[in-house]
Amino acid sequence: MEKTFAIIKPDAVAAGYSGKIIDRIEKEGFKIVAMKKIWMTKKMAEGFYAVHKDKPFFNDLTTFMSSGPSIVMILEKENAIADWRKLMGATNPANAEEGTLRKEFGKNIDNNAVHGSDAPETAAQETRYFFADIEMV
Ligand code: UDP
Repeated sequence: MEKTFAIIKPDAVAAGYSGKIIDRIEKEGFKIVAMKKIWMTKKMAEGFYAVHKDKPFFNDLTTFMSSGPSIVMILEKENAIADWRKLMGATNPANAEEGTLRKEFGKNIDNNAVHGSDAPETAAQETRYFFADIEMV
């Protein structure tokens, strides 16, 4: 079994899509190992997306991620990392395939509804950024 780290981003939470997205997550066979609603500070968002600190979209991205509550989760299944990225769809919802979460719930590349780790190392690192061991069941 593999674990990955996922976020329902502020746009999707504000739009009232959390329940629908969590329903899809469970229907697609992921087990929710941990979940909580948080409101990231700008500093937390900057730390989380530090890999993008030199990108032109860094300020807009971290402002958006700290603009309201998000839901952070640890998801578990076989192939969780790749399967969650597949269920999310392409970064830009305009390019996302039918049936993916970004196609259904994303508005545009800035407001694309969900996040998912891209590799085992980032999954472990992102998980530790938001969760203590005691919160993983
Ligand atoms: N992003 C953006 N503009 C861009 C590229 C990315 O606002 O031109 C945002 C977008 O919300 C994306 C996040 O930055 O989800 C992280 O980018 P990455 O390339 O890691 O995409 P992801 O892994 O989220 O698909």
